[in-house]
Amino acid sequence: MLNFEFHNPTRIVFGKDTVAELEKLVPATARVLILFGGQSAERNGTLAEVRSALGGRTRFEFGGIEANPTFETLMKAVNLVRAERIDFLLAVGGGSVIDGTKFVAAAANFAGDPWQILASFGGAVHSALPLGVVLTLSATGSEMNAGSVVTRKSTHTKAFFSNPLVFPQFSILDPTKTYTLPARQLANGVVDAFTHVMEQYLTYPVDARVQDRFAEGLLQTLIEIGPQVVHEPADYDSRANLMWAAAMALNGLIAAGVPQDWATHLVGHELTALHGMDHAQTLAVLLPSMLGLRRDAKRAKLLQYAERVWHISEGSEDARIDLAILKTREFFESLGVSTRLAGYGIGVEAIDKLVAALETHGMVRLGEHGDVDLALARKVYEESL
Ligand code: NAP
Ligand code: FE
Repeated sequence: MLNFEFHNPTRIVFGKDTVAELEKLVPATARVLILFGGQSAERNGTLAEVRSALGGRTRFEFGGIEANPTFETLMKAVNLVRAERIDFLLAVGGGSVIDGTKFVAAAANFAGDPWQILASFGGAVHSALPLGVVLTLSATGSEMNAGSVVTRKSTHTKAFFSNPLVFPQFSILDPTKTYTLPARQLANGVVDAFTHVMEQYLTYPVDARVQDRFAEGLLQTLIEIGPQVVHEPADYDSRANLMWAAAMALNGLIAAGVPQDWATHLVGHELTALHGMDHAQTLAVLLPSMLGLRRDAKRAKLLQYAERVWHISEGSEDARIDLAILKTREFFESLGVSTRLAGYGIGVEAIDKLVAALETHGMVRLGEHGDVDLALARKVYEESL
């Protein structure tokens, strides 16, 4: 096992009717900014509940944070925070709203150009406003981690930063708040959480047995509940299990002491930035090709994945690996997420620009061995057509 430090300070308040707990969780004297996305939280009554739980606190609102939040929109929230001397941020939404709120928290007191927050991957952040979360979409784990992904619209740059100062102080996880999600977002959530686990589990073995078995448990849970989540509306138990699995998939627990990959995520960012694909759609397309093309570096873990997650124990090594990758692809497809670029209208003519964007963004040595170079990334896009 590799050396590690593990610290996760986010308080999780889980279950039905927990939005009312905001009354206790947000400081009574706070000047609060509620941040949200489009109209979903207004339409399904979540915002009304939030307003009521905040009682007489001084309250401001900032709506319109888009899916794949943009630097341009978020800077408007930063200006509001500075003008109104806001001292507590409350994100009501999914990964995009939470990530956006983390950026606003870090940018509020930032001296200089806030794009440096992203350009430095978070290293330049030395203070941040406190933030809390009311989660409405299970997928990213952003509700329990210190990461954030922000897009600069003007340059089509999807960038990432992380800093312990932007861990949410608390996150309210009420599974009933996800009942109004359309099937596409539910399926996306399962795929994103599944791929987060794979980025941390499917590398090379370091005899991290606890982390491996946690990861395998999360993958098996997602395989079990995925179809229920997508096909059975308002089923509390499957939504609750997805909500906790997605948070556990990216809260540092299974990352402790193991090598991490993240090439699928980073190669996928260019598909969202240039073609507007949903984050999870990029993962469903790229993960099977990534695993297939990197089978030699990942051989031992692919065989373990085949055996323990998909119960495949017969055939040659390559046959077992192929079948495990096929099962992964079929699982994503069974949720209604296409695993081919053609399914999103993207053809071979797009690849040169995607590879050029990776180069511009410095994404030239990705993966746990740093061996996903531009030539390999090109092959991954090609294999995903
Ligand atoms: P999202 O972009 O936050 O939301 C997608 C859509 O779902 C929005 O249009 C939103 O509509 C709608 N929605 C949210 N809650 C709803 C509800 N309860 N009922 C109906 N509709 C609802 O989706 P996400 O997958 O959670 O976040 C994706 C972003 O997170 C990407 O930018 C990705 O790169 C990033 N990400 C971050 C991390 C991390 O660790 N920080 C990890 C992976 C990915 P409204 O706008 O109308 O609310
Ligand atoms: Fe993700």
